[in-house]
Amino acid sequence: MKKLPLLLLVLFLIISCNDKTSNEKIKTKRTPNSFAIVIHGGAGGIKPAYFTETQQEAYTQKLEEALNAGYKVLENGGISLDAILAAINIMEDSPLFNAGKGAVYNSDGNQEMDAAIMDGNTLNAGAVAGVNHIKNPILAARMVMDSSKHVLLSGKGAEIMAKKYGIEMVDSAYFFTEKRMQQLKKLQGKEITTLDHTAFLIKNELIDDHKYGTVGAVAIDKNGNIAAGTSTGGMTNKKYGRIGDVPIIGAGTYANNLTCGISATGTGEYFIRTVAAHEVSNLIKYKNYTPSKALNEVLFNQIGSLGGEGGMILIDKHGDVYWDFNSSGMFRGYKKSNGESKIAMFEKTN
Ligand code: ASP
Repeated sequence: MKKLPLLLLVLFLIISCNDKTSNEKIKTKRTPNSFAIVIHGGAGGIKPAYFTETQQEAYTQKLEEALNAGYKVLENGGISLDAILAAINIMEDSPLFNAGKGAVYNSDGNQEMDAAIMDGNTLNAGAVAGVNHIKNPILAARMVMDSSKHVLLSGKGAEIMAKKYGIEMVDSAYFFTEKRMQQLKKLQGKEITTLDHTAFLIKNELIDDHKYGTVGAVAIDKNGNIAAGTSTGGMTNKKYGRIGDVPIIGAGTYANNLTCGISATGTGEYFIRTVAAHEVSNLIKYKNYTPSKALNEVLFNQIGSLGGEGGMILIDKHGDVYWDFNSSGMFRGYKKSNGESKIAMFEKTN
């Protein structure tokens, strides 16, 4: 009988040692005044063969620019909410990503953008859905959080309020890009013959579409407050009026100082059905899962087994950075006050 506690301890140690999830983990305990930011620019069929060196360089540079902008806010003592806005704004202004300027088209040939932000300190949140005259939808999400008693505003109502609060408005023509229009035409005009989980092969032609260039950021500031935000054009050829996971708090975006902040990217419907970001937070909170194990459980066992694909970035209450994805790649990067930083696109390597 006396041997039982010892046996349990040994068992616990064995299980802990075997808890090797497939995701990356960047381990550093949070020291006072430390801070960190992690960003993503979408996940999906992202493989070296699909990108020229020049394209890879362009993505790397833009991710670096976004990371540095967010990092600078934190370094200067700014709050995590401002840091993620700074980072996301830069990616929204770039045609490389499916958010803001680079948003994809819906089946009617229009663009409808979604964005959300959440403050892990207060659990305040704001989101907009289906907007197409707001240059930076993430700013409108912040406005909804700060200046209304609501959490989610859609379409015209969101745009009227954004205009009233002085947020930069643009003609929808601002969002036009030839590349996204071509992607829509290809998807609409040709019959899909193969789906291999990483890319659509349409009449033997690889369609540069099965990757989800949504952008997102999570940061923890010097005070230990966590914020998360996500911005997207949604999915190419989506139905008019379709709203994805991004503005659904708890699905594509979530932050709670007691656990972590999360921003997701991928096939939004699956992230909604699994309430993905909140599920990860709950596994950490109620089941004592490590962030790695929680991400793995939700991405592979829940979303993956339903047929969904994508990834998530996470910062936990200790300031540790995590990410994982069940697709072939994810544009991603992090930067921490202890000097660690990384930018990556393809498969998971530490
Ligand atoms: N999750 C986004 C959506 O479904 C798409 C993406 O991540 O690219 O709207």
